[in-house]
Order: sequence, then structure tokens, then C-alpha cells
Amino acid sequence: MDMKIKSCRELIEEVIDTGLCTYCGACAGGCPYLVSFKDRIVLLDNCTISEGQCYQYCPRTHTDIDSISQQVFGAAYSEDELGTVKEVLTARSTDSHVRERAQYGGTVTTLLSLALEEGFIDCAILAKMSNDKIPGAFLARNKEEILQGAGTSYMAYPVLEALNQIPKDSTERLGIVATPCQALALSKMKKDPPQNRVNIENVKLVVGLFCTWALGLDKFHQFLRENLDLPQVIKFDIPPPPANRFDVYSKSGKLSFPLDQIRKFIMPTCTYCLDMTAEFADISVGSVEGIEGWNTVLVRTDAGVKLIELSKAKGKLEIGHLPSQNLAHLKEAALLKKKRALKEIIKKTGDKKKLLYLGLQESIVDRLLAQQSLAFPPRTPTCRGQTDEA
Ligand SMILES: Cc1cc2nc3c(=O)[nH]c(=O)nc-3n(C[C@H](O)[C@H](O)[C@H](O)COP(=O)(O)OP(=O)(O)OC[C@H]3O[C@@H](n4cnc5c(N)ncnc54)[C@H](O)[C@@H]3O)c2cc1C
Repeated sequence: MDMKIKSCRELIEEVIDTGLCTYCGACAGGCPYLVSFKDRIVLLDNCTISEGQCYQYCPRTHTDIDSISQQVFGAAYSEDELGTVKEVLTARSTDSHVRERAQYGGTVTTLLSLALEEGFIDCAILAKMSNDKIPGAFLARNKEEILQGAGTSYMAYPVLEALNQIPKDSTERLGIVATPCQALALSKMKKDPPQNRVNIENVKLVVGLFCTWALGLDKFHQFLRENLDLPQVIKFDIPPPPANRFDVYSKSGKLSFPLDQIRKFIMPTCTYCLDMTAEFADISVGSVEGIEGWNTVLVRTDAGVKLIELSKAKGKLEIGHLPSQNLAHLKEAALLKKKRALKEIIKKTGDKKKLLYLGLQESIVDRLLAQQSLAFPPRTPTCRGQTDEA
């Protein structure tokens, strides 16, 4: 079904006011009216355009998943728990300096540095935290700047606003690190290229991050301010279950908060998200349960394969095999996220045929809801998604 493109007023009514906004930034930065402020997209003035690109590229307005999949992979939407995948690997950087700064194995940082070094991209749009741990997007142009982005801020941040701010006539080739909702918005842009904005064809590499949920910036940052000396903080981490903790590493040691204390800051929209592994990225990267300092890597497109092959040939990444039990657990967590989101969407609309933003055939919805996980042993927790079901 074709989407009816509407105005920014309708974007506000249908997405922002209803708590569906992911704060990805796809609607902001490309016009004088919509901007990000604290943890919200705000409309600064009246815009008279009736068919706005802001509405069109939002990952929470109608999204035809099959045609997005055709665009990215040249194939129909994969019903596999992890989406379309060419290779499943584990990896970590061979550079100990990167590993020290990175969230886990530094695979994301290493892949972007390599892409830059090899001339695949000229710069990369990344997120980094300020001294006060407020996330912000920036354009990294060299290895040192890419390293500044290392580490995870669990707060949702409108990274795509930075993409929309790049001048329309720029010819620089871009890499971008994206959460699943951001990768989905980018795919919508690739499918129907924006007018009067940066040429989306310049985006040559999308490195996706696994994501079970993100935290609302404003209130969560207030919580951080009240409880921590933020300039002293080196790293945040949410280790896999059964830890059930939010860890903070600071210059004076490690502090842990029960995850339940943090859950109240989860963005409401994450409940309606089906995608745990950034299914529309070139390469998706997450943690590995039980294997500290390594990443799980899902290679999805030819561009992804090429970069991974090069990282092996140049000795930039140490590559391993993901144990079958880890793979089974990852699939279980990803499937649970899909099923939980579908149930929540149907609960919200009260109609299995009305799936908010999701354009997915009813037969696929039925199959996903009925699908049983093949994980073994049955309930050993592996990653955040699983405990979230509880
Ligand atoms: C909101 C959020 C939730 C996540 N949830 C999970 C999860 O449930 N399970 C799991 O396995 N992994 C999750 N991750 C991914 C994980 O934290 C690591 O980013 C990933 O494993 C890559 O590790 P690395 O060592 O290669 O990263 P690094 O080499 O340290 O690079 C990290 C990259 O992440 C980018 N980044 C950091 N914060 C943000 C942000 N807020 N928004 C966008 N980009 C950002 C930076 O630009 C940097 O390039 C999550 C990440 C985020 C941002």
C-alpha cells in the first residue's frame, strides 16, 4: 500500500504527541521549522507544505517493510529473527588502544576507521558524549575523531538531524552509525531520495547497533546528574542478563544501579519497535553474551562483506565464530522483541489489520506471532531483550 505523505502538523499529531517518536532526527535539521530540543522534536513555526519529507521519512509513519527490504537487499522481507544476514561472526579490534576506549570489542570504531582509511567514506556521522555525558552527533573526519565516538550512550539521540544539516551539494561519501530506528529511516530515504537535502546516495556505509530500547534523554540525564559526578564518568554499560544492572565506570571506581531503577526512562516508542538487530544496516554490531570484550557481528550487504573481508586482510579485526548456543539465544531475544512489539501495537490499535506505522502483510504478522524460538536450553537469558519480556 502506498503511503499518503502528510504535513509536519500531522507528524506532530500522529507521531510526536502520541509518544511514537523515536527521536531519530530524520524529520529535523532539513528545514527551518523542525528542530530537536532536549528529548523532543519541536515545531518552531507554521510550515505550509502539505506533503513533508519530515512525515515521509519518519520511521513511525507508514513504512512498507517489504519494499524497504527490496531497496536494501533486493529481496522480500526476511522472516528470519535476525533479518537478512550473509554472515554471523564475532569480532574485536586488534588495536588495544581502541578496545580500551570502546564499548565492547571496538568493532564499530575499527570498521569506520578502516572505511575512512580505504577511501570508502570521507567522513562519518557518529554520536559522542560531552564531558557532562550529554550525547551529541558530530562528523568525524579522521581516525582520532572516530575514536572520540567510542562507547555507548544509552540515550536516544537525533543523529539523523546531523545528516539533514549537511549541505545539499556536498559530494562527501558518508558512513553513519545508527540504531535500528535510524537505520530504518535511512532506508526510507534511500528508497525515495529526498529533494533539497543531502544526496542520500552519498551514504555509503550504515553500521547498525543492536538495541533493545533507548532511554529518554531529558529525564534520564537528570537522573544521572542527581546521582553521579558526570565529568568523572568513563563508561556506561548494561551487561547481559542475569546481571539486571546499569553499571557506571568512573575514575573513582564502579557503581551499579538496579536496572528497574532505569526502566522508567525507556522511550515509550521502543515498546512498538520490532527490530533488535538493526535489520536494514550494512553490518550490525552488538555484544556477545559471556564473552567479554567481543562483538557479535551480522554482515548483511555486499558493502558489509567487502569491509569485513578487508578488515581481515589488513589485520584490523580479529574474527571468531559465534557459538551456536549464543546464536540461538540471540535469535530468541530478537524474536521476542518482534512478538512483544506486535502484541503491543495490536493492543494499542485494537485491530490486527491496523499496525500503526508497520506495513507488513497479515500472513507475516500471523507467522511471527506463532513462531516458536528454537533456543536451547529454553530460558537461559542471553541479552537484554529476553528479560524485558518478563
Ligand atoms: C541506545 C542503545 C541501546 C543498545 N542496546 C543494546 C542491546 O540491547 N544489546 C546489545 O548487544 N547491544 C546494544 N547496544 C550496542 C552496544 O552498546 C555497542 O554499541 C555495540 O555492541 C558496539 O560495540 P563496539 O565496542 O563495537 O562499539 P564502539 O567501537 O565503542 O562504538 C560505539 C558507536 O556507537 C555510537 N553510539 C553511541 N551512543 C549512541 C547513541 N545513543 N545513538 C547512536 N549511536 C551511538 C558511537 O557513535 C560509536 O561509533 C546498544 C546501543 C545503543 C546506542
